[in-house]
Amino acid sequence: MALISLDRRPSAHLAVPLTAGAVLMLGYLAAALLGASPVVTQALYVVGTASALPAILLGIRRNRPDAWLPWALIAAGAGFSAVGDLLYSLFPLLDGPEIDLQWAMLPYLLRFPLIAAGMMLMVRHRTPGRDVPAIIDGTLLAVAVSLVSWVFVIDPLRASMSGTTAGLALTLESMAFPIGDLLLLVLGLRLMLGGGFGLASLRLFGGYLVMFWGADTAYTIRLVHWQFEYTWPLELAWIGASLMLGLAALHPSMRPLGDRTAAADQVATRSRLSLLAGASLLAPLTLVIQYVRGGNLHILLVAASCAVMFLLVTARLGGVAAAQRQAAITDGLTGLHTRRYFAETLGTECARALRGGEPLSMVLLDIDHFKNVNDTYGHTAGDRVLVEVAHRLRTAVRSGDIVARYGGEEFAVLLPRTSPADAYTVAERLRLDIMRTGVVISPTEVITVTVSLGLAALPTHTDTPDDLVGLADKLLYASKEAGRNQVTAPEGTVRPAPHVGPVTRRR
Ligand code: GH3
Ligand code: MG
Ligand code: MG
Repeated sequence: MALISLDRRPSAHLAVPLTAGAVLMLGYLAAALLGASPVVTQALYVVGTASALPAILLGIRRNRPDAWLPWALIAAGAGFSAVGDLLYSLFPLLDGPEIDLQWAMLPYLLRFPLIAAGMMLMVRHRTPGRDVPAIIDGTLLAVAVSLVSWVFVIDPLRASMSGTTAGLALTLESMAFPIGDLLLLVLGLRLMLGGGFGLASLRLFGGYLVMFWGADTAYTIRLVHWQFEYTWPLELAWIGASLMLGLAALHPSMRPLGDRTAAADQVATRSRLSLLAGASLLAPLTLVIQYVRGGNLHILLVAASCAVMFLLVTARLGGVAAAQRQAAITDGLTGLHTRRYFAETLGTECARALRGGEPLSMVLLDIDHFKNVNDTYGHTAGDRVLVEVAHRLRTAVRSGDIVARYGGEEFAVLLPRTSPADAYTVAERLRLDIMRTGVVISPTEVITVTVSLGLAALPTHTDTPDDLVGLADKLLYASKEAGRNQVTAPEGTVRPAPHVGPVTRRR
């Protein structure tokens, strides 16, 4: 019940702005369809699009986000956009001084850099480090959307204006709209891919971007391809988009939207991979559509986009494969190598040692009476002991040595280019390093942990990996039988002199 009431709170917060927005849209629709005076219709339109500015300012005040600057920049962009609407839609209807419409476009255009800057800041706030998977996915979607936008919207607009009396400035200005919309859409995709898609504020913001982009694109298509008569559906969409932007800022989840997200791990979900595959297919699909329509084929552009997207997908899958390989060879609890990795390495190291005539030693060790730790102090304490023993093993050996968790509380250490005598020294050091300092298992409890070890070397004692492990295992159990907390090596292994005085760590 508590969860349900929490879920409902945000929409209760938004009841007033939602109602006001709905009334405004209905009012505009009634005015447009019932043939009210254009001044009334356009005034309602401008009020609708301008509503985003006060809504964002109120949202910043109410939700107090840690990072307010991105929203302030977005508010400024929305404000300039409203000024553009005022100059372009309402001003010409009033008996005021004439204004050059080319200048009226400037406030519209200022919307793009301001909102883009706000969104870039938001992305940086959310993921300050490098989030490679999100960057790759975002770039891939950007390439796909840009290609489609260029082929179907931007280039046709350029072509349609090049034969007219429109000067270069006006042509560039007109092209800046679809390009600016594209930039915002791409940044929006990057924002969504960075996680946090469950936040209502982010969804509303995404809705704003898509709706604004859709209306602007329809406007361009109307200019270039298809001269449909009505402007009210577009204006209604622009009002709706502005209302969504305002709601995104007013929604309580606007505050956590600025929070840092963990960089996504490499794993790609099925839906993410489907999205990437779908986006990659847009390039050849574009080519086919243009071919069927007998239009300009943009061969070079499509080929370049295909190549870039192919490389990006390959890089992404390479990352996924590497991450999965890493997961398969890393023990989740201790961070040591897994038994599987140990077995693989053992095979190659044995072959190398036999080929090169160099010794290869291995030590197998098992924690003594570990079951007692679990039974007396609990499983969590047992896990702490495993993590600490793993840490001590890792810090006690050389960098080329391989330490693995071989079983529950059994560990294996592979020592390339190490003679049985030297391996014995290492094994003793491991035993002492683990025993000497107690392991902290809770704020008030420290216990002493001991291990039993078995040692075997190649080619001195055996000449196959299986026999090497078998012998080390047999000698480990000999250590257990002989009273635990000791190293057992085959007969004839030179043992180091008994230790006297303080033990020094190798590192
Ligand atoms: P011995 O000296 O003969 O080796 O006695 P022991 O109690 O250490 O040996 P035994 O093999 O009977 O017990 C091993 C225990 O290790 C049993 C199992 O519950 C525990 N264990 C295995 N994996 C884990 C783990 O990941 N976490 C914890 N907490 N315990 C584990
Ligand atoms: Mg044990
Ligand atoms: Mg055991």
